[in-house]
Amino acid sequence: MFILIFQKQELQRLFGYTEMHKNAKDLTGQQVGRLLVICPTEKRRCGGVVWLCRCVCGNLIYVRSSCLVNKISKSCGCLQKEWAHTLGKTSAKHHGSTEQLYNVWRCMKQRCSYKNATGFQYYGGKGIRVCSEWKNDYTVFKRWALDTGYKPGLTVDRIDNDGNYEPSNCQ
Ligand SMILES: [Zn+2]
Repeated sequence: MFILIFQKQELQRLFGYTEMHKNAKDLTGQQVGRLLVICPTEKRRCGGVVWLCRCVCGNLIYVRSSCLVNKISKSCGCLQKEWAHTLGKTSAKHHGSTEQLYNVWRCMKQRCSYKNATGFQYYGGKGIRVCSEWKNDYTVFKRWALDTGYKPGLTVDRIDNDGNYEPSNCQ
């Protein structure tokens, strides 16, 4: 283990390694989450022994006894970073659902404006238009959709099938 790799003097010099107090709880070699407890140090925090620990990611950190015993510290901080990363991904997914709405908006405009769009004959071909405030500004449409209770997977439903895509005729 670590103590075997480093000479005790080295540990003392580099990390403030100290011999255990006789009646202190020896945590050497314990695994707490991602942390491996290497050795006690001469540092004290809140009256507790501070231990040198190595995280699985390779970082060396100081953690005091109570944080190890109560499993408050479980990594050098990389665990939290990974969680943050995962949460970031989740919110990216959420962002994706609003992007779906963007597609709804794009397709709605296409089938009303482009002759080659799928379904144009039933929309643009029949004179159905997207009102200009929606057509020119996705954010206006998005605000309307979210206010109306848009959920991913839904599309815009016109109340009057021969009417235009505009707030008063859509749900
Ligand atoms: Zn780490």
